[in-house]
Amino acid sequence: MGLKIIIVGGGIAGLAAAIALRKGDREITILEQSSISQEIGATISLQPNASKIVEGQWGLASTLRDRGSMVDGAFEVYNLDGEMQIRIPLQTTDKYGAERMMYHRADLHQTLKERATSEKFPGRPATLKTSSRVSTCDCDSGTVQLVNGEVLSADLIVGADGIKSVIRRCVLGEEAIARPTGLSAYRMMIPTDNLLKETDFTKVIDPRKGCTTMVIGRDRRLIMGPARNGSIYSIVALVPDENMNEDSANTSWTTEGNHDKMMNTFADFPSWARKPLQLAMASELGLWQLRDLDPLPTWYSGRAILIGDAAHAMLPTQGQGASQSIEDAEALGAFFNAFEESSDMSLSSIADVNNAIFKCRYDRATTIQAYSRQAAKPATEPGDRKVNMNPAEFMDYNCSYSGAIDWKRRQEAVA
Ligand SMILES: Cc1cc2nc3c(=O)[nH]c(=O)nc-3n(C[C@H](O)[C@H](O)[C@H](O)COP(=O)(O)OP(=O)(O)OC[C@H]3O[C@@H](n4cnc5c(N)ncnc54)[C@H](O)[C@@H]3O)c2cc1C
Repeated sequence: MGLKIIIVGGGIAGLAAAIALRKGDREITILEQSSISQEIGATISLQPNASKIVEGQWGLASTLRDRGSMVDGAFEVYNLDGEMQIRIPLQTTDKYGAERMMYHRADLHQTLKERATSEKFPGRPATLKTSSRVSTCDCDSGTVQLVNGEVLSADLIVGADGIKSVIRRCVLGEEAIARPTGLSAYRMMIPTDNLLKETDFTKVIDPRKGCTTMVIGRDRRLIMGPARNGSIYSIVALVPDENMNEDSANTSWTTEGNHDKMMNTFADFPSWARKPLQLAMASELGLWQLRDLDPLPTWYSGRAILIGDAAHAMLPTQGQGASQSIEDAEALGAFFNAFEESSDMSLSSIADVNNAIFKCRYDRATTIQAYSRQAAKPATEPGDRKVNMNPAEFMDYNCSYSGAIDWKRRQEAVA
């Protein structure tokens, strides 16, 4: 019998873990609380450190390409006067071995889900059980309990249940709540055809071109780019958090966005940059309070290990949250690679592998969490419009990555 694995959470981290761990006769079950696990309508970029794994190692480039994936060709940074301050060409394959890729979230999620659960790929397919909310976990016995009372057991429990993780509480023995970062984000998507009619926008930006455009004010910024072969244009608008989206029980950090309020917040932005905001459907405008985690004391206990946002939720300012989740998943696969050959699936053997994964991953993910906080700091001096930020500042550290085993060797070489 191969390793028996339960993955709690069917988001990007959970599906990626199933892909990386899928091998031979291993029995992998993904427990997802929602009825249909799917991603919100927004774009996501994977940095070369993660696109290398997803597109190269897991062989998903052509499927993602068929679904409209795009190479990000450059970062272009504008100030409030609409002047380009910085342009960083990205073609990164020579330097980092892969490109920075832009996807519709639903396409990435669907592609990962198929790769994890379809018969077409090597190894026993993972089973995705939806409407399966886990309420607690016993890390030593390797059992999880669902809200309906059902108890399931496995050799390994992967806590990929996101920023509000239940498994995190079980691993740490106490609650670690993600904290507000002072920022919220509006997210919008508009058909590119609508934007192409706005000539003052198209004089500055071609919304069909693979490029990330940032317009930077002191405490607010727009991050925009295309997806699905340039047929849709996506906008993330970062604003100061007003805590208006925390409910009294502190369980929901997302609310409907108010379109007029958003337009007022960006009143002093160049008129071309406000066009995509104007075109966004007020009825589809969401506002996310952005939280992150302080570094946790550990990510594992006994048979249970945390990955993704459950372990190291971070600000989206470097587009590394999902990318780090994919690195975590690849590390699980790499470190558990030799395992089913061994008959010893005792608590101490599994805990030893979890410890090795934690040691390999912790410093790197924690550093990138810290960089993401740093990249969120005001990028202009008070009263000045000059942008003092470089979106590629941490790129060498973030993107020079060739998988967990290589990283472990690099760690040992400097120790
Ligand atoms: C505005 C914004 C922009 C971003 N842009 C990028 C980007 O460009 N690039 C990038 O790399 N990252 C980006 N990120 C970060 C990225 O979205 C997250 O890091 C990533 O989605 C985390 O994936 P996850 O699977 O760990 O968590 P989640 O996506 O939260 O998935 C967790 C899953 O677990 C399920 N679940 C939760 N609790 C339970 C339970 N008790 N039982 C069963 N199931 C459960 C949930 O329903 C969910 O499906 C961005 C984030 C934000 C907010």
